[in-house]
Amino acid sequence: MSPSVVLQHYQVAIIGGGIAGLTTALALERLGIRYILFERHESLAPDEGASIGLLPNGLRILDQLGLMEEIEKHTTALQRWQHLDGDGALLSEVNALGYYPSTIGYGGLFLERRKLLRIMADGLKSVDSIRTGTRVTSVRETSEQAILTTSDGIRITADLVIGADGVRSCVRPAIDQAPQGSPGSSDDYMSTRFACVYGISPPVEGIIAGDCFSVYRPAATILIFTGKGGTVFWFVFEDLGQTYTLSTTPQYTTADVEKLCRSVSHLRITPTVRFGDVYEKRSVAVKVALEEGVAPNWHSEHMVVVGDAAHKMVPNAAMGANQAIESATVLLNELHSVLCGPSQGYMPHETLTAALKQYANSRKLRTAGIVQKAGITCRAQLAHDGPAAALRHELPSLTDGDWLFRGFMGLADAPVLAGIPLSQHGLLYQQAVDQFRKRVRARENEGLNISNMELFDTEGI
Ligand SMILES: Cc1cc2nc3c(=O)[nH]c(=O)nc-3n(C[C@H](O)[C@H](O)[C@H](O)COP(=O)(O)OP(=O)(O)OC[C@H]3O[C@@H](n4cnc5c(N)ncnc54)[C@H](O)[C@@H]3O)c2cc1C
Repeated sequence: MSPSVVLQHYQVAIIGGGIAGLTTALALERLGIRYILFERHESLAPDEGASIGLLPNGLRILDQLGLMEEIEKHTTALQRWQHLDGDGALLSEVNALGYYPSTIGYGGLFLERRKLLRIMADGLKSVDSIRTGTRVTSVRETSEQAILTTSDGIRITADLVIGADGVRSCVRPAIDQAPQGSPGSSDDYMSTRFACVYGISPPVEGIIAGDCFSVYRPAATILIFTGKGGTVFWFVFEDLGQTYTLSTTPQYTTADVEKLCRSVSHLRITPTVRFGDVYEKRSVAVKVALEEGVAPNWHSEHMVVVGDAAHKMVPNAAMGANQAIESATVLLNELHSVLCGPSQGYMPHETLTAALKQYANSRKLRTAGIVQKAGITCRAQLAHDGPAAALRHELPSLTDGDWLFRGFMGLADAPVLAGIPLSQHGLLYQQAVDQFRKRVRARENEGLNISNMELFDTEGI
């Protein structure tokens, strides 16, 4: 087939079938908007062995999309978080996550990424809209529309291209080069200071389902979460000692996995478990670079980025996917009136541009803050100076109430999909946030003398 043949015009084309792309597709279906989605992998749920932690902000939106019941079948809520030094000594034990389900409606849940992607993909109704095994090879725009070409030689035009294509996005550079973008490359704003091996091991005696562990030490360290039945989702972080640009970021082999994991195998996780005991039982272990950065340009006239393509963070705050879900939500909320307005089927140019601008403006500040927070958490674990050192030093003095307060500060501003009802859990989230805000205001302005823990209704837990 000639690449110059235009097969079809779409209102919306999504590039990427990861968490951002699938959230976008699921929400578009709820609005009754026709789309096409391209994913380069043969499957929407490739078995890459990674895991994913979902937090109340992402879960509330997935709940709106009807996926919560299925997610719960594969997860166990996280409860206790132990922070350890490099000798295995306990710096702090926190149970704040354990309060989440009853206070805000959703817990912190870890599961295999493949399972989450499968649940999301199974939620799609419009199977004809999905083109797996198809890579978008180029994207550009005219004043009228965006034009895509794919690895199978198809050329498609769209009123709007949504780049949900990850940190190495092909849409983001096209936006940068658009007339209203800013010249330069992703190297100007995406960089890599850390790498990590992510792995999964079956249950390990001595590690209980619901437990999490962070180890604090320089150079290389460990983060562990648990899932259903005690499955262990673990990460070994490495400080690369220098910062790479996106284009010079290293890639890794299985020999690199082995070297890094062996270097921390002696670290104590519990009095009876060393990291080596977890690593020996691994079913998967993969080393990847951890890029960080926020794109300066999120949209042009007919293109927009969402998820890691727009805001990439290290995984230490378990927020990258949750923010991808949030960004897709805000984008869809802004597009709602454009896509479902009186001129259905045609997107008035100025209205579309205004909606994309509003999306970018409302998301950049929140995501930049979360990218920074995740970075500080990672740097704290790897014994960096500055705010990271401050976080590390205050660990022993932080109470469950302090952690809940910080958690709620982040969760309070999370968006929901407009026009889709909230479940009982979603309503509880809203009530909890409203009450939290009211009590914080009363404490700040009216001299109400209550502790951080008393900001929450945790009685009887
Ligand atoms: C080790 C690790 C652990 C993490 N843990 C967590 C966690 O616990 N909680 C959390 O919230 N976040 C976590 N994250 C972050 C999270 O994985 C990402 O933020 C999230 O997956 C981003 O989703 P996305 O859809 O934007 O991008 P991606 O997941 O990168 O998906 C992009 C998709 O686009 C496809 N694609 C790319 N280019 C093309 C093209 N040209 N044509 C067609 N298809 C294309 C790709 O194949 C891919 O499927 C973690 C990240 C890492 C690295």
